Amino acid sequence: MTGRTHDMAAFTALSYVLVTQNMPQMTVATAIVAFTANIVGGLAPDIDQPTADLYRRIRGGSLVSRLISPLFGGHRFISHSFVGIFLFGYGMRFILNLSSKYLIVDANVVWWAFMIGYVSHLLIDMLTRDGVPWLFPIPFRFGFPPLRALRIKTGEMVEKSIIFPGLVAGTIYLYYTNSAKIVDFLKNNIIR
Ligand SMILES: [Zn+2]
Repeated sequence: MTGRTHDMAAFTALSYVLVTQNMPQMTVATAIVAFTANIVGGLAPDIDQPTADLYRRIRGGSLVSRLISPLFGGHRFISHSFVGIFLFGYGMRFILNLSSKYLIVDANVVWWAFMIGYVSHLLIDMLTRDGVPWLFPIPFRFGFPPLRALRIKTGEMVEKSIIFPGLVAGTIYLYYTNSAKIVDFLKNNIIR
């Protein structure tokens, strides 16, 4: 999947949680950092892919990718599994704890937003031919639909014309049908 699709999937997943769960109160700063963390989480699993959009978005990314990508053992490997979710979740906790002295945001909210983006990435990758090795190191790749030939290739027409617009439409639908809840969230949960 392209970075753009992963951004959208992360945002769709975050929106779903926002309208279905009881949200805690948070500052504007926390909400903004959480939103960013969600997008970063949505791209993070592709840290194992040298050509990932993740690297194109940062200065000197191609150099960084040549150093980091090999550590993850190749594309769609450990970072695309339950072990990866655990490791990245733990790593993110560690980073947030370290930065808590300098960043005045709710680390818990930021962590959840990151993880929601992360998991959304693995779920949406299941629609592609390569599938997702959820049970790494067991070398079996799961996909949907289970029949590989029915799945799509990254950047193909189906991704651009059905999956991406589908995510946009789904998100608009979520906000439309839950507008009262959104207004309530903005009014009561976002504090200064
Ligand atoms: Zn991926």
